[in-house]
Amino acid sequence: MSQETIFTKIINREIPADIIYEDEQSLAFKDINPQAPFHVLIIPKTPIATINDISEEHAPLVGHLYVVAAKLAKQFGFSDDGFRVVMNCNDHGGQTVYHIHLHMLAGKEMGWPPY
Ligand code: IMP
Repeated sequence: MSQETIFTKIINREIPADIIYEDEQSLAFKDINPQAPFHVLIIPKTPIATINDISEEHAPLVGHLYVVAAKLAKQFGFSDDGFRVVMNCNDHGGQTVYHIHLHMLAGKEMGWPPY
């Protein structure tokens, strides 16, 4: 299941975004409503609506999103202090945009549990 969302428009440069990383498979840009000093969304260019829609064929692509997170952590100096990556799913997970994305939050100590 895949539907066009605002993230497809960002991928296609139809609406502006503060893009900090791009490769053939993925894009990372600053969250418009940041919840940490560094809050970026790492998305696949292929739209997948939710975690429920991920299948075995997507495993390399989904894994790649974590590779990008590790690269960004290194580039922006968060590897040692640490950071958080989160992917929300559907209503109870707090998902609002139905194109999977890793939230990468860094630059402060996170609390747990996350509610
Ligand atoms: P979700 O609630 O886990 O689906 O996360 C969606 C995120 O997308 C939220 O943190 C929003 O602030 C963010 N967001 C929505 N529209 C835009 C945009 O146009 N640019 C950047 N971030 C956006």
